[in-house]
Amino acid sequence: AGLKMYFPITAGIFRRHVGDVKAVDNVSFDIYEGETLGLVGESGCGKSTCGRVILRLYDPTAGSIRIDGVEIGKSTQSDLRKMRPTMQMVFQDPQASLNPRMTVAAIIGEPLDEHSKLTKGEKLDRIYELMDAVGLNRNFANRYPHEFSGGQRQRIGIARALALNPKFIVCDEPIAALDVSIQAQVVNLLEQLQDQFGLTYLFISHDLSMVRHIADRVAVMYLGRIAELAPREALYDKPMHPYTQALLSAVPEPDPNIETERRRIILTGDVPSPANPPKGCNFCTRCPKVMGICRQIEPEFREVEPNRHVACHLYNDTNETAGQTATSEV
Ligand code: SF4
Ligand code: MG
Repeated sequence: AGLKMYFPITAGIFRRHVGDVKAVDNVSFDIYEGETLGLVGESGCGKSTCGRVILRLYDPTAGSIRIDGVEIGKSTQSDLRKMRPTMQMVFQDPQASLNPRMTVAAIIGEPLDEHSKLTKGEKLDRIYELMDAVGLNRNFANRYPHEFSGGQRQRIGIARALALNPKFIVCDEPIAALDVSIQAQVVNLLEQLQDQFGLTYLFISHDLSMVRHIADRVAVMYLGRIAELAPREALYDKPMHPYTQALLSAVPEPDPNIETERRRIILTGDVPSPANPPKGCNFCTRCPKVMGICRQIEPEFREVEPNRHVACHLYNDTNETAGQTATSEV
């Protein structure tokens, strides 16, 4: 079974448990060392929650999270504290995630206070080193976040995330709050740091053009589940899941010389509530290719071609397989 993160909904004066918001519902994928896995989807699809539960900022409802083979899904807070240095997060809004009353040096140095035993001088050296790495002027070490531009603030956030030499970083919409003119600079910086420090990224974004630029593989999330996971080129050249097809049909082709045969697919209807997802395939209420079976049986997320995973009945091997699933589930 995959990873689940449900948030309970309670009602009434006795706070009776009446249901769950299934923010992350049976999600299962690997992230390979040194790669960038893009996690894309519309806002509210559960991608941020997914990133946070992988870092154990939330306790998962069910399922397993392994980092380097070590199961951390049920680790205690004190075990997690020891793991913390290896896995970090870069947040969407550098403004909100930086303490306005702390200097840049104090912000970047904070993880060092908690997790390392550096002398004052060593700590300052490390802070300068990190400022160099992210392209911040050392002379600004004693300034406050509000004295910086949005892009520079995100560099401060990245320096803080790097302080303890992490291996794995969840970048949650790291450029969404930035001016378009700055976005590419920050993405280029993240790529350069990845090469320099051998980092592995989970890059969460709603921006398919940006993900195309940075990701090695891409996972498409819809309503708490992964619809499709594929190497970048394969996904953008030949999207298989109807939801991916619809998302990509709205993205302009980067090379205007390429004639695309892709027509814009307009999805109708709202995204259903994660508290009450449709039966069967969770995309069935909006899918242009919906079939009878889709409203009855949840499609299995499986490898339909080498390295390509899709959760859709269109790619069932035979109807017999579908029939068997039907009998076992009904
Ligand atoms: Fe569409 Fe059915 Fe595939 Fe779901 S399983 S994406 S409803 S065709
Ligand atoms: Mg989000």
